Amino acid sequence: MEKAKCLIIGGGPAGYTAAIYASRADISPVLYEGMEPGGQLTTTTVVENFPGYPNGVDANALMADMRKQAVRLGADIRSGAVSAVDLSKRPFKVTVDGSVELEAEALIIATGATARYLGLPSEQKFRGLGVSACATCDGFFYRKKDVAVVGGGDTACEEATYLAGLCRKVYMIVRRDVLRASVAMQERVKSTPNIEILWNCNTQEVLGDSSGVTGARLQRKDGSVFDIAVDGFFLAIGHTPQSALFAPWIKTDEAGYIITDGRTSATNVEGVFAAGDVQDPRYRQAITAAASGCRAALDAEKFLKQ
Ligand code: NDP
Repeated sequence: MEKAKCLIIGGGPAGYTAAIYASRADISPVLYEGMEPGGQLTTTTVVENFPGYPNGVDANALMADMRKQAVRLGADIRSGAVSAVDLSKRPFKVTVDGSVELEAEALIIATGATARYLGLPSEQKFRGLGVSACATCDGFFYRKKDVAVVGGGDTACEEATYLAGLCRKVYMIVRRDVLRASVAMQERVKSTPNIEILWNCNTQEVLGDSSGVTGARLQRKDGSVFDIAVDGFFLAIGHTPQSALFAPWIKTDEAGYIITDGRTSATNVEGVFAAGDVQDPRYRQAITAAASGCRAALDAEKFLKQ
């Protein structure tokens, strides 16, 4: 059976950055990219808030460059999705694509999280053309325009207030007559003059044309249907961290985010580290994921050299 010193699971900013640092630390990282090489960022277009790119950077190009950098420094990056793990003892056992088996001395979990979508065909059609699940990433493109945010939790409130600072008008589409968000966040939303909450509404369809999103068709609980005109349609109905595979061994919070020890990337299993969105319900940015990938590689290096 193949033996890897340091196995990294996940090909997003956290995984690639971990691979860059682990290569330079001489711990021969092997990285499996999973189902979505490049990670969540590849579902967006231009990244304007990653430092070092004064004119912004194409999200796919950014990820391709991170990957190239890791390969140039010696990382062994492979396509394939990890389908099973056994973390009951070291070396850890990892199965890729249901067949290839490896053993790893140290493991870095960087499997990310997936934004939840409503599941409408029209939403899928306009993804990247006005439909987004990240206001911090894409809000800038809707300056002085009208947008909608779906959801009533803390994320939706935070995204709505962020967008309210950029956009002319923000509709919050809330399916009940209450917000799930904390009282403080609710107050912020309610005191922001250019946010309008559309209570008891569900989205039937995202409307658009060849230029992208132009509006949304909503249905109230009483059955009445109406349209709103918006250029951006933001989903904020939660994320699903990709941690289920590790659940029998690795401690997570109620939502499934892996719990790490204080300021480190250490999980409850010695030799297993977590980086990026799979352990971060709060910031979820490419730059914060990259930073935590760096921490995980340094922690793995220290662990392996002990
Ligand atoms: P939440 O699960 O808290 O909220 C999701 C929201 O989306 C709810 O209002 C829910 O409605 C709504 N929703 C879910 N599915 C649908 C659907 N199919 N159609 C319409 N609406 C839907 O997720 P968040 O991402 O907001 O927050 C996750 C965690 O992170 C929470 O614990 C939150 O407190 C925390 N957080 C904290 C922040 C902070 O402290 N600054 C910032 C952001 C998040 P319903 O209420 O009806 O179920």
